[in-house]
Amino acid sequence: MTRDDLQRRIADYRKEGRWNALVFFTLLFGVLVGDAVAPQDSLAARIFSHTFYPVGFGLFPVMIVYSLLRIWMKGLVCSHCGARLMGELGEKAISTGRCWKCESKIFEE
Ligand SMILES: [Zn+2]
Repeated sequence: MTRDDLQRRIADYRKEGRWNALVFFTLLFGVLVGDAVAPQDSLAARIFSHTFYPVGFGLFPVMIVYSLLRIWMKGLVCSHCGARLMGELGEKAISTGRCWKCESKIFEE
């Protein structure tokens, strides 16, 4: 991996993450609004009120696991120790060229 590779992968990861967050909050907002506007005691109101907790609390852990999976799939980890190279830790790796955890060289340049 080169420095440019890591920067590009981090940018890709962030771009996808924004879309995932948009989908999640749109779903949550949709359920909230649907619950508020559906006539009381209607089937729609019951469906919306029963989907709020699964959407709100069920999708959240799924999103976290999915982000961790994407970090791994995009190769945003140190090839020596597997430490994540994201966010501030990724910036540190880019500026020093070394893993923040095991201090191995991470770029082949
Ligand atoms: Zn490492």
